[in-house]
Amino acid sequence: MRHIDLIVIHRNENGHTGRELVLQGQAEYNLFIRKDGTVDVVVPLEYRAAHAVGYNSRSVGIAVYGCFMDELDGRKCFNAHPTQAQLDSLDLLILGLQWWLGTKLAVNGHTELPGASRDPKKVCPGPNLDINAVRRRTGTKGL
Ligand SMILES: [Zn+2]
Repeated sequence: MRHIDLIVIHRNENGHTGRELVLQGQAEYNLFIRKDGTVDVVVPLEYRAAHAVGYNSRSVGIAVYGCFMDELDGRKCFNAHPTQAQLDSLDLLILGLQWWLGTKLAVNGHTELPGASRDPKKVCPGPNLDINAVRRRTGTKGL
């Protein structure tokens, strides 16, 4: 297993399932959390996924289905808030990965990480998915 010390959280609503993302050529995350909280493996953890520039080798990328801001590119976001089932799955994945890997993991939202997006204006996962609250619930810290 490669050395992993970071979990990076993303938004994505281009497919409802990991399978739909892959079929659209977006196999960019290790894990995908559907609206109902189901977790799909998109890229197995032993492989790096291309989700955060400069951080892929050391991290697990988790995409949560949704937009998590009120508006994106002038359009109202359809899934602007994570469901409780998604938050429960996200917390469990963070705690479970730490247990399984036997180490503390840092937890960051994608665009909290300097230079991690090619688009400097990108906001990911968005203010409605509160990364500080995720860290509080899981007893983790950011990088
Ligand atoms: Zn992202």
